[in-house]
Amino acid sequence: MSDGKTDHSPADLLIRAAAVHTLDPGRAPGEPPQRAIAVTGGRITALSPEPAGLDDLIGPGTEVVDAPDATVLPAFDDTHTHLIMAGHSVHGVPVHRTHDLAEFLDLIRERAARTPAGEWIRTTVNWQEVLLAEQRLPTTEELDGATADHPVLVRRGAYNMVLNSPALRLAGITDATEAPPGGVIERDDRGRLTGRLINRAIEPVERVLPRPTLAERIEGLRAASADYAATGIGTVRDCLVPVEDLDVLHAARAEGALAVRVRALVSGFAARTPEQVDALLDQMDDWRAQGRDDDRLRLWGVKFGIDGGFEAGALEEPYQGRPCYHGRLLWEPGDLLAAVDRAVGRGWRVGVHAWGDRGLRVLLDVFEQVVKRRPGLPPGTLVVEHGGLARADQRARAIALGVPVTVQHPLLHDGALAQQRTWGEERTAALFPLREWLDEGAQLSAGSDFPVGPYGAMVSVWGMTTRDTTAGVVGPEHAIERAEAIALHTVNAARLTGESAERGCLRPGALADLTLWPLDPLSCPVDALRELRPARTVVGGRTVHRS
Ligand SMILES: [Zn+2]
Repeated sequence: MSDGKTDHSPADLLIRAAAVHTLDPGRAPGEPPQRAIAVTGGRITALSPEPAGLDDLIGPGTEVVDAPDATVLPAFDDTHTHLIMAGHSVHGVPVHRTHDLAEFLDLIRERAARTPAGEWIRTTVNWQEVLLAEQRLPTTEELDGATADHPVLVRRGAYNMVLNSPALRLAGITDATEAPPGGVIERDDRGRLTGRLINRAIEPVERVLPRPTLAERIEGLRAASADYAATGIGTVRDCLVPVEDLDVLHAARAEGALAVRVRALVSGFAARTPEQVDALLDQMDDWRAQGRDDDRLRLWGVKFGIDGGFEAGALEEPYQGRPCYHGRLLWEPGDLLAAVDRAVGRGWRVGVHAWGDRGLRVLLDVFEQVVKRRPGLPPGTLVVEHGGLARADQRARAIALGVPVTVQHPLLHDGALAQQRTWGEERTAALFPLREWLDEGAQLSAGSDFPVGPYGAMVSVWGMTTRDTTAGVVGPEHAIERAEAIALHTVNAARLTGESAERGCLRPGALADLTLWPLDPLSCPVDALRELRPARTVVGGRTVHRS
């Protein structure tokens, strides 16, 4: 089946292109590219090295795409991202497009002008204050200047908020309010609220925010998943799905609102005790028992986190300028071992966030214990999410354990400045040692970690090959080749989700998840990759994006 037809029924879709890069590991290296590909019933049915080689599959219902200059690749996976958050954020005030606080506040003012007084105004969450000219968050006072007639919630990522005065009032937060344990209510020198709330201090706000309806949630997911597809992504692995949101995803899937395939990791961040972990796993078991999984929406497993991120990743050496601070471990290793062991004992896969080198070391200690306790654990059951600062000995341990690692250059791209402030330049440049991971034989796959980094197929390939970031090029010795970067989002990503037999490369019988590019991403100028968008994204034979 190297170039022939395996199915003679007429094609639903037939693409003739300059090149079809199949990425099929079963094909001989150096084989000339294919030039035509046919799709029927959601699957690839045939490939041909001749543009006209599949023309006898054209029937009355066949959509024929003649694209003699274009290149076909598999659709990309984003192996670590947050679609649920994107769905909440997609209709927010798009402050991620602004460059300074004046623009930022103008957008809020504009939204206020067309929003009934008293209704909440919220921002998108995918931005970093260090990338604004002022390198800081807006204050309550500034937000009040944009509107005093609406509660305003400025949100960055999952755990940082700034509120205007009406919003603080609605949340019941005053100068006298004490922060809950694990939360920060920021105050100025004179003890007055700045409006900023961090971590658990955001909970009172979440309680008073109007809850979106199911229809609104589905529309949010429809728009957000279409945005992913528009960058060439066909599958997302959402690494923080609240367990109750599995039903929202299922409703969206049932309505055909998911442009991309979704692999869900249920958030285990609130589960601390064995009872809480068991209760979460019970809910996951119930979901599995309902038989709602299919190739569009699949419950992948559970997600825990061993340490913090830019400001609290656990390091062996102290933080820059803070000789007594090494970041934070979020679990006692014994407790995490018990939690992971419970999950894998019930047949679930587990992904664990590790950012600093101490975080990764402790996580590998835990994973080694789990593997020892459970001989015969299926490969790919345990996954390191990020493994940001991975020292040589730690890489060797992860590889010896056969534990896959997901990396995210876009996270480094947007976070490099913030990370340099807390870790210094050297440790920031050492993040994501991709060249070493690949040379040493790791099972690596790639994603974005949106909303911390921007998602997108080629912006990630550009970043992994150039190591360019908001702080300039960092750690260029860790860069990888373009073909390697593309493989991390396709062939390797399908291996991570256990779907190599179905997805990840283009061959007859595989799911028809493919992208059509106006330039050849394997040979175009590298700078063109950064903004390169596909002309078309196809998932399961259905065109989910067309430019
Ligand atoms: Zn994440």
